[in-house]
Amino acid sequence: MFMEKNKSSRRVFLTNSAKATLAVTAGVAASGSFTNAFGSPHSINSNSPWFDTGFKQEPLPYAYNELDKAIDAMTMEIHYTKHAAAYATNLQDAAKAEGVEMSKPVEDILGKISKYSAKMRNNGGGHYNHELFWKSMSPNSAEKPSGKLAAAIDSSFGSFDTFKTQFSDAGKGRFGSGWAWLFVDGDKKLRIGSTPNQDNPLMDISEIKGFPVLGLDVWEHAYYLRYQNKRADYITNWWKVVNWDFVQKRYEGIA
Ligand code: MN
Repeated sequence: MFMEKNKSSRRVFLTNSAKATLAVTAGVAASGSFTNAFGSPHSINSNSPWFDTGFKQEPLPYAYNELDKAIDAMTMEIHYTKHAAAYATNLQDAAKAEGVEMSKPVEDILGKISKYSAKMRNNGGGHYNHELFWKSMSPNSAEKPSGKLAAAIDSSFGSFDTFKTQFSDAGKGRFGSGWAWLFVDGDKKLRIGSTPNQDNPLMDISEIKGFPVLGLDVWEHAYYLRYQNKRADYITNWWKVVNWDFVQKRYEGIA
């Protein structure tokens, strides 16, 4: 997958710069074309190993009952085998219908999602968001991040507790269905925001733009069996299962 991406990026680069000198580094050639929340040029490298989401579901990295301190087994099973599975299937259908090469990463589509159908937007986002969500949780998680991510959270938000409050508020405040995000914007700064439905910050149509480091699903299907209308309680418990090792690696690979 990663090799395929390298090849395609290089092909685009060569086409776009046939008359340019060859003194440009591969890193510059592979830069993404996203714009940040303020509309300035984006410097996130879309050739990062994190731009590698396939069109099929990956296996859950734990059993359905292993996140029980936050999410019950039945919710996990239905969420993974029904909701998320449907996003993946419908995304593949849309990709076939709209001539999308499924050997390329899903991220390639999301960055130019305005050029595709609503079906592609809803299911491409749905599939990507859930693939990220499963990996962002773990039964054996640390309570908080460390290293570069911890330092960046402190400098961006003041403290880890303030960050948690602001992120939780983004999830609680999202009206209807959607996601809360910690993302890296075009200036490589950490930011918090939320998106409706299955949109995410990689999408060119999103109000918040950047690379998602951590996402929280606040659709009712993610918590209703145990928490009913109490979304805030779901969010409070969700912090107990955040896979900070994964989130840190993701941040360090992009910032
Ligand atoms: Mn969901």
